[in-house]
Amino acid sequence: NFLFARASLILLLCCLTIKINLCCFGTDSSIRKLPLEGQLRFDDIHYAGKDFGNRYQFLPLAVMHPKSVSDIATMIQHIWKMGPNSELTVAARGHGHSLHGQAQAHRGIVINMKSLEGREMQIHDGRLSYVDVSGGELWINILHECLKYGLAPKSWTDYLHLTVGGTLSNAGISGQTFRHGPQISNVQQLEVVTGKGEVVTCSEKQNSNLFYSVLGGLGQFGIISRARISLEPAPVKVKWIRFLYLDFQTFTQEQEYLISAEKTFDYIEGFVIKNRTGLLSDWRSIFRSHDSIHDSKFESDQKTLFCIEVAKYYKHNEINDANQEVEFILSQLSYISSTLFVAEVPYVDFLDRVHSSEIKLRSKGLWDVPHPWLNLFIPKSKINTFAKEVFGNIMVDTTDGPVLMYPINKSRWDDRTSIVLPSEDIFYLVAFLSSAVNSPKNSDSLRNILSRNRRILEFCESTNLGVKQYLPHYDTQEEWKAHFGSQWDNFVQKKLFYDPLAILAPGHRIFQKGV
Ligand code: FAD
Repeated sequence: NFLFARASLILLLCCLTIKINLCCFGTDSSIRKLPLEGQLRFDDIHYAGKDFGNRYQFLPLAVMHPKSVSDIATMIQHIWKMGPNSELTVAARGHGHSLHGQAQAHRGIVINMKSLEGREMQIHDGRLSYVDVSGGELWINILHECLKYGLAPKSWTDYLHLTVGGTLSNAGISGQTFRHGPQISNVQQLEVVTGKGEVVTCSEKQNSNLFYSVLGGLGQFGIISRARISLEPAPVKVKWIRFLYLDFQTFTQEQEYLISAEKTFDYIEGFVIKNRTGLLSDWRSIFRSHDSIHDSKFESDQKTLFCIEVAKYYKHNEINDANQEVEFILSQLSYISSTLFVAEVPYVDFLDRVHSSEIKLRSKGLWDVPHPWLNLFIPKSKINTFAKEVFGNIMVDTTDGPVLMYPINKSRWDDRTSIVLPSEDIFYLVAFLSSAVNSPKNSDSLRNILSRNRRILEFCESTNLGVKQYLPHYDTQEEWKAHFGSQWDNFVQKKLFYDPLAILAPGHRIFQKGV
C-alpha cells in the first residue's frame, strides 16, 4: 500500500510538472503569434520587475511595447479567451514610480505604456480648453506642449515625471488640490481597454460608470490608453514662499484658513521638520530670506517646526497685483516673521521643482535606494491626536526624507470615483517620504523606517482615527476590505463587470486571477 501510494504521488507530481510546462510553453507560443504593430519582448524584461519603491521585484514573462490601442486590446482579448485556467495577468506600467510592485505582473505581461507616449497631443483652445494625451504620456511633456499655446493643466502632482495613467489610477494630488480638486477631478474623457479587451470611450455623459470606476481605480477596471485633460490659461511666473511655526495649532489653523479664504494662494502645502540641522541655510540656496538680519538668529536644530509652503502665480504684467495680494494674505497670518523666505521663479521651474532634487540625488547615487513611503489621509478632527503621538513620540527626526502635511477639502472631489477618502469634509495628507540609506549611525535604515511606519499604522488603528492610506498597499484581501469599508461591495461588483477574470493590475494583490 505504501509503495503504491508513493508511486501515485510521484506520478501525480510528474503530471503536474508536465502540465505546468505545457501550459507555460503553450501560453508563450500563443502570445508570440499575436498580430501586433508593436513589439513583445521576452529578453529585456528586468526593468519591468522594479519600481521606485525598490522593495518588490517580480519578473514578468514578457514586456509588450504597444504601438496602438489595438495592440493592448489584442493582448487582453487573447488572455481573456484563454479563460481562468491560464495564469497570465497584465499590468500597465507607466513610469514605474510605484512603491510596492503595483505595476508588476509576476510571470505575466507588463505593458510599457510609455511606448504610446509619442502619439500626438491635441490641444483644443476654446471655452473649455483641453488636451488629448496618451495614457503613457509624462506630465512634464504635457506641460511643455500646453505652454506653447499659453495653456496648462490645472491640477498637478509635486513631481511631473509620472504618467497620466499612473496618477489617474490613484488621484494625483498636490498644492493645487484644495482649489481644483485632484487630477481625477480634471479629466473630461477617457479611452479605456477593459479586462475583456473591449476599447471603450467614456466620460461623465458616456459610459459614465466605467469613467468613474477607472478614476482612482488602481488600474483594476481598465487600462487608460487616452485621456482628455482640462486646461486653463498658464501663468508665467510664481512667487514661491515658505514660513515657519513652532506651534502646531496655529500652523493647522492657518493652513485651514488659507484653503478656505476667498483671497488666497494658488498652491498650498506644508511640512513637518524635526531635529534638522542647517535647514534655513539649505533654503537660502533657493530662496531670498525676507529678513536677513533676523533669519540668521533663527536656529532650526533640536526643534519640531511646521512649515507652510505657498505659491502665487502671475503673468509678467501682473507683478504689482501679485505683490499686493501676497502682502495682504501674509498680513493675516502669524508665522515667525524672521522665517519668511520668498523666491520668484518661472512657472515651469516651480512645477518641476522635485526634478532638480532628483538630479542631485542621482548624482550621489541616492535615487535608486529603497523608498518605504507611507501616505495617509487623516480626518481634520483627529489631526491633533495624530500629531501629538506621531510627531511627538514615534518620529524621532525627519532626516530620512521630507514629511509633507497639508489640508484638502473634499468638496473638490467627485464621490463617483473609486478613491477611498476619510468621512470628514476636510482631511490632511501626511506623507512620510523616506529614503532608506544606511549610515554609521543608522546601519539598518530600511528596517527602522518600516518599523516606524508600522507603529504609526498601529497607532491609527488602535485609536480608531478613521485614517485612509493614499497610494494604498496591503497584503491580504481582508485588509483591502477594511480599506474600502462600505465601498468594498461596489468595488467587487465593478471588478466582476469590467475585469471578471482579474487579469488587470495584479501587483496591488486585491484580487487573484480566476477567483
Ligand atoms: P506606475 O508605477 O507605472 O503604475 C502605477 C499603477 O497604475 C499600477 O497599478 C499600474 O498598473 C497602473 N497604471 C499605470 N499606467 C496605467 C494606465 N495607463 N492605465 C491604467 N492603469 C495604469 N502622487 C501624487 O498624487 N502626488 C504627488 O505629489 C506625488 N509625488 C510623487 C513623487 C515621486 C518622486 C514619486 C516616485 C511618486 C509620487 N507620487 C505622487 C505617486 C505617483 O502618483 C504614483 O506612484 C503613480 O502611480 C506613479 O505613476 P507612474 O506613471 O510611475 O505609474
